Amino acid sequence: MITAVYPGSFDPATYGHLDVIRRASVSFDRIIVGVLHNSAKSPLFSVEERVNILERATESLHNVEVKPFDGLSVNFARENGAQVIVRGLRAVTDFEYELQMAQTNRVLAPDVDTVFLTTSLEYAYLSSTIMKEVARFGGDLSKFAPPEITDAVRAKLNLMNL
Ligand code: ADP
Repeated sequence: MITAVYPGSFDPATYGHLDVIRRASVSFDRIIVGVLHNSAKSPLFSVEERVNILERATESLHNVEVKPFDGLSVNFARENGAQVIVRGLRAVTDFEYELQMAQTNRVLAPDVDTVFLTTSLEYAYLSSTIMKEVARFGGDLSKFAPPEITDAVRAKLNLMNL
């Protein structure tokens, strides 16, 4: 039984994240999506909101759970009995940072491996930041995330008068 954690900020989840989760759920027995609490970035959505959004978006995937976490991904992996950390790779620009993180995690926890899923081509450009940027200027969000998520982004930005 192989358990994988998929850690990230998910502020909020996009079709790119959901694609990685769906594909990982085929390759691993159990996926625990870890929503990072103490992100250095100041998130648009609270950790509870980000967890909630992901829970609803993944409810049809029966081997996927979503949990908040704080601190190191390797500790989150170990606490959940996971042997694998899943990360997504979009472009060369992701590679340097992801490689450094994976190597650091290998030093910290040689028993936990990092597995990269390359993005599906139609989501290669997509990030939570891009989605929020387009939302701020009133653009069409329908290619970026399911309607429940894009509605939540618009509602949140309205609330904050952004
Ligand atoms: P972080 O702040 O940890 O990078 P993100 O929520 O931005 O958190 O991303 C979490 C993971 O999902 C990262 O591995 C990132 O590369 C991956 N990811 C983000 N967007 C996409 C996408 N469009 N396609 C594939 N992977 C993605």
